[in-house]
Amino acid sequence: MIKIGSHVSNKGDEMLVGSVLEAVSYDANCFMVYLGAPQNSYRKDFESFRKDEFQHLLKEHKINIDDLIVHAPYIINMANPDLEKREFAIDFLTRELLLMEDLGFTKMVVHPGNSLGDKNAINYLKESLIKILDNTKNTNTMILLETMAGKGTEIGRNFEELAFLLEGLPKERVNVCFDTCHTFDSGYDTVNDYEGVLEKFDEVIGLERIKAIHLNDSKNPLGSQKDRHENIGYGYIGFETLLKFVYDPRFKDIPKVLETPYIDGKAPYKEEIEMIKMKKFNPKLKGES
Ligand code: FE
Ligand code: FE
Ligand code: ZN
Repeated sequence: MIKIGSHVSNKGDEMLVGSVLEAVSYDANCFMVYLGAPQNSYRKDFESFRKDEFQHLLKEHKINIDDLIVHAPYIINMANPDLEKREFAIDFLTRELLLMEDLGFTKMVVHPGNSLGDKNAINYLKESLIKILDNTKNTNTMILLETMAGKGTEIGRNFEELAFLLEGLPKERVNVCFDTCHTFDSGYDTVNDYEGVLEKFDEVIGLERIKAIHLNDSKNPLGSQKDRHENIGYGYIGFETLLKFVYDPRFKDIPKVLETPYIDGKAPYKEEIEMIKMKKFNPKLKGES
């Protein structure tokens, strides 16, 4: 069975109980959450997450907690040239991994960082990663560095940058989340050369390091570096290519998570998951845009 799900919310009084129920309502068997608002580092007290009910529901719905992903807030910058801000990022991500450990989550996706134009930033970033891993060495948690679109001064815009970050770090602690929109947007032509792009990834990093896929179409053509996600089959990547990722036997055991935009204020995930499972594009999901 394919592992497919989406980003779901984790809020209100329901918190993680609501997350599981939302995922189940989409017929998903995996999902991704933020532990707080995506743009801030505030965290509710531990009790609010409703851990016991959450874990009970996962069992009831036969969802494996190792297939779930926590996304770090996107304001966190492990590469920040400003030491104080970098230390905040290290401290925050350390606490986030410890919170995940307490809740039972094992995988965190993080945007590697932003150089803000400083050539040394990628080295700072690697040091930050090493510190975070060291601070959390007794946990069963893994950091997944996301492949980025290359917008502005984002780090992780190509496989070589990610390979540099991963080099020498333990395989059981740091790996990669492959975002289909971002890689296409950064210039990897998966539409015309799916195999070639994966071969390249394998050569530079190793395909076994991909532990999650963000399955998104792209609003912009190859190499645009704009990072704008589109609904499945409605963008420049297209349904056929996205299906290749979902049904690639090499990715059979890893979660694929949709981060596609809402349509008219509504989550499109149930319909998108359905068309992926049916392997049939649904042209009625969305009007011309
Ligand atoms: Fe992301
Ligand atoms: Fe993503
Ligand atoms: Zn994105």
